[in-house]
Amino acid sequence: MLEPALLPTPLVDCTDGVFARAGVRLRLKRDDLLHPGVPGNKWRKLGPNLAAAVEQGHTRLLTFGGAYSTHLRAVAVAAGALGLESVGLVRGEELADRPRNWSLRAAERAGMRLEFLTRAAYREATGRAGAEDGTELRRRWGPCLVLPEGGSNGLAAVGAAAIPAELPGLDGRDVVCCPVGTGGTLAGIAAGLPAGARALGVAVLRGGEGYLEAEVARLHRAGFGREFDNWRIDHAHHGGGYGKVPAELAAFAGEFERRHGIPVEHRYVAKLLAALADLAGAGAFERGTRLTAVVTGLPDPE
Ligand SMILES: *Cc1c(COP(=O)(O)O)cnc(C)c1O
Repeated sequence: MLEPALLPTPLVDCTDGVFARAGVRLRLKRDDLLHPGVPGNKWRKLGPNLAAAVEQGHTRLLTFGGAYSTHLRAVAVAAGALGLESVGLVRGEELADRPRNWSLRAAERAGMRLEFLTRAAYREATGRAGAEDGTELRRRWGPCLVLPEGGSNGLAAVGAAAIPAELPGLDGRDVVCCPVGTGGTLAGIAAGLPAGARALGVAVLRGGEGYLEAEVARLHRAGFGREFDNWRIDHAHHGGGYGKVPAELAAFAGEFERRHGIPVEHRYVAKLLAALADLAGAGAFERGTRLTAVVTGLPDPE
């Protein structure tokens, strides 16, 4: 297994400002401290998949990502640490002949072989992996365990279900919160909660209504053989879309860092925290609610 740097991850109280005025407690679950190369939810989601890969005798992992994909880097580092080969299919064939950006360079340095696909070929390949049918991909790339884009599958959700298991004493006051990219982390958190507690996801992409809810339900069926009704997704705090960070969001993140001494990743974690502050300010949470925000990752190095 891929040794964590720190497990269970720390839980810290952050109640101040708008949360205190709303009578709501805010705690942070510091999953960003889990592993330096495979941070946060990437470590949680990869764990059971890596165990399955080793158990099934795979020697190679194959996955997908964009030019700055954290998932791609995480798979490269995890595979390298376990002595497995890795192949990364990257969106954008024009990147093949350009100098590597820091993210792709890090993936290559960890031992990943990169293959650059046109957008159409990438869509086709990720579609096959999303259907959890890697037959065609294996024909092309050889025997390998195929991980979907973003790393969310049933096993990934099972890995993320360990997050609430590290939060003792959850009950009807509790809302455990995380950002939502593909929904694997939220699916795991919801599935791992005790009765009464709820999960709230904040979508970081625009236009995900319906689609993301269907994805979480699909991951619940794949990982746990049932659906859950203790979660919901907020779609009003994506900041303009995936990867978009409006100036006021960056300012909020900077202010939060200064106040609490915690690095705030912008594309996911800042959107989550800003959404919670906004919702608390608007009275969306009953007084006495205890929010636990999962800090799912680290700021980019560049
Ligand atoms: C990848 C990532 C997410 C997205 O998680 P999903 O399980 O895909 O919803 C959230 N936060 C951070 C920091 C990430 O890197």
